[in-house]
Amino acid sequence: MIRNEEQTLLTNKKDFNEHLHQWYHKYHRKLPWRSEPSVYKTVISEFMLQQTQVDTVLPYFKRWLEVFPNFEVLAKANEEDVVKQWEGLGYYSRARNLHKLAKEIIHKKEIPKTPQEWLQFPGVGPYTAAAITSIAFGEPAAVVDGNVIRILTRLTANKNEFKDNSSAVKALTPLANALLNPNDPNTHNQAVMELGATVCMRANPLCTICPVVSFCAGAKYGIAEQLPKLMPKKTEQIVLDRIWVVHEGKLLLNKIASNAKRLANMYELPERNGDLRELISEKEKPWVIKKRGISNQRIQENIYKPSTSPTLEILKTIEGQTNIEWIAISKLNSITLSGPHKRWINELIGHS
Ligand code: SF4
Repeated sequence: MIRNEEQTLLTNKKDFNEHLHQWYHKYHRKLPWRSEPSVYKTVISEFMLQQTQVDTVLPYFKRWLEVFPNFEVLAKANEEDVVKQWEGLGYYSRARNLHKLAKEIIHKKEIPKTPQEWLQFPGVGPYTAAAITSIAFGEPAAVVDGNVIRILTRLTANKNEFKDNSSAVKALTPLANALLNPNDPNTHNQAVMELGATVCMRANPLCTICPVVSFCAGAKYGIAEQLPKLMPKKTEQIVLDRIWVVHEGKLLLNKIASNAKRLANMYELPERNGDLRELISEKEKPWVIKKRGISNQRIQENIYKPSTSPTLEILKTIEGQTNIEWIAISKLNSITLSGPHKRWINELIGHS
């Protein structure tokens, strides 16, 4: 059943869209994928922007376009080079899926234009399909992600508690589509995304300068910042012990298996288990402790450094380990390290 605040917003849809679009034309950020846009630039930017902030994406986008300027060049590249260009951006399946997508798209007679067709490509979900096809082809498909959920629940003072992000997306997609300006879905979707990124932020929304404040029930009732209501996620605590061993100018690293679900073929500091336990006495305390979070996981990585050089016997054992490799410190730039490990290794090399 449609709520009163939603009905009021939809009744004022024309005015709402005019305010939003005028504001977007005047104030939007000049981003490289918006100037001289192309399907390719749109696809690359949408993949990079999944889970990642614009500021982080900018240098990656620029480099990517220099190395892989179009679908053809990307399709012909080898996967290792593609993942290397993504190094540090995280969620590496995005790079692999982009590569597969490029290989598929170059064999099509023409580039598909509808969200349904784009959903068939690897790594493309409903949000990305709507973003790509509305921006590149003017398809009337509304984008709905965390930003849009925030804006819509605030505009309509929707205090329902959603189980998680995907149930909120499901509940709010009909409203997002009803609010879409079918004459210009490209500007509409980009304007909504821009509003979420620069004005209607999670904390401290800038209601006083918001172009649609006169349509916003959440701001009117003074409850905007409390919305949306999402059930808190359970956090999972994970502790991993890693080792730091340098021998004859080489660092001991683990190459993640090529069939692993995450980070396939990338390098990281080895875990302290199996025969590698021998390298560190049980009494040793961690040399460094690093903490990070991925989604609802809180990960603590204890890095141990042996106080003595590894014995010949231990070196032999290490050589027999699958996926464990000595990599010359001078050649670390030629392999692809997982994002956090690359940061830590660069930092720790100076102290080892
Ligand atoms: Fe968001 Fe405030 Fe604008 Fe409402 S008025 S859409 S809460 S920034």
